[in-house]
Amino acid sequence: MTAPAPTERVLATLNADGSRRWIRPKPSRGKFWQRRRSVAYGLMLLFLAIPHFRLNGKPLMLLDLPRREFTLFGTTYLPTDTLLLMLLGISLLIGVFLMTALFGRVWCGWACPQTVYMEFLFRPIERWIEGGWAKSRQFDKRGQHLHPRRLAKYAIYAVLAAILGNSFLAYFVGTEELARWMMQSPYDHPTPFVLMAITTVAVFFDFTWFREQTCLVACPYGRWQAVLLDKQSLIVSYDPARGEPRGQPKKALPMAPAGGDCVDCNACVLTCPTGIDIRDGLQMECIHCTQCVDACAAVMRRTGKPEGLVRYTSKEALAGHVRHVIRPRTVLYPLALLAFFGAFIYALETKDKADVTVLGAIGEPFTREPDGSVVNQVRVKIANRSSATQRYAVDLLDAEGAKVIAPELPLNVVNGKTVVTSLFIILPETAFHDGARKVRFRVSDGGAFVQEFPWRLRGPNEHDSGHSEREK
Ligand code: SF4
Ligand code: SF4
Repeated sequence: MTAPAPTERVLATLNADGSRRWIRPKPSRGKFWQRRRSVAYGLMLLFLAIPHFRLNGKPLMLLDLPRREFTLFGTTYLPTDTLLLMLLGISLLIGVFLMTALFGRVWCGWACPQTVYMEFLFRPIERWIEGGWAKSRQFDKRGQHLHPRRLAKYAIYAVLAAILGNSFLAYFVGTEELARWMMQSPYDHPTPFVLMAITTVAVFFDFTWFREQTCLVACPYGRWQAVLLDKQSLIVSYDPARGEPRGQPKKALPMAPAGGDCVDCNACVLTCPTGIDIRDGLQMECIHCTQCVDACAAVMRRTGKPEGLVRYTSKEALAGHVRHVIRPRTVLYPLALLAFFGAFIYALETKDKADVTVLGAIGEPFTREPDGSVVNQVRVKIANRSSATQRYAVDLLDAEGAKVIAPELPLNVVNGKTVVTSLFIILPETAFHDGARKVRFRVSDGGAFVQEFPWRLRGPNEHDSGHSEREK
């Protein structure tokens, strides 16, 4: 039994029989396309360059997932910086909400890497190698997926995918580590090699086969539009009041009503990289790339009509009302953004220059020397959050007569790194009462960072539970 055919298109990239509908848009090189191209080339350069830039001796951006350390603009955030990362994340999210409320899907059309690379790198190469968008459609129609021109295109795509995939990896492992991976034999580093291969294949797959489906079925941002956009938001839209009824009035009927400005030439549909018809109204598939704006503007110029039948506008403006930029969401979002980003800056500026944790020994809480004195092992974990290498001293307070053995002190800790060191504290048995001795540790970097930590050393006692614990 065969499944009933859908009565209407369910996805712009599917034919009625469920097969792939390849989209080979005809480029419309109008004024928006030229501006987007400048932005796209700038962003491509930025993407390649950012991992190589340094600030405060650190990469501009390094997302070290295995160590859970994130370096952004010269500042390293450690796993303990959850509050900072949360404030930054919420600020970014509100920023996206605000941008969408004001400018619609400007991110999708102008800055999203998927659009930027697809429309200004991969598709132009496709048109160049295959002989133009119409030729590409012919290859599709004839099923010539392995035509020599297509194979040449795939080869170039593979090289580009390797470059982009490895550039992407540089954001996670750093340029030095990536260079090391690239210089060594895959046998010496099989895991990184597999990682590089997977990234390259993923980029190749995305831009060769998956393409606009990333926007249509995989990206959640498009689906958020229903709640992020309102009637005042800037959208790319066809003006039905001006365009309808479509097509020219028939010459044979001189008394026929004048047609709208839309000559039903389909130029806006042919140029759409997601395969939709802007005249069907605002659609989730529309990435607001403005290609239909440029295509229709060219048609309007040819037909002697004013440009703007398809344009940047808003639902409210299309209904003949004034578009209001100031409205509840464009007031509330900036206020929320100010609050969260302000809190982030405040937390960043006032955060301690180091994270210190005092820990007990692993195993026995204390041991005995042959002369009966008691030895406590205490571990001190220091995470240097400052912007330079620091030399930390750890002093024991309130423990007169104690002997401290700490061969690693003072301790050098590189900025952004965490080091654990051990101290052995030897006290006579008489220094303990009820199996414990209250002391303090003072950790300082010789500058502004000085912090004290109360601690309970453990000693012999008939009630001793056998555990060392930090004083509450
Ligand atoms: S390009 Fe303009 S005139 Fe042509 S079909 Fe689209 S809206 Fe109508
Ligand atoms: S409808 Fe127009 S703006 Fe929307 S994706 Fe298609 S060409 Fe771009």
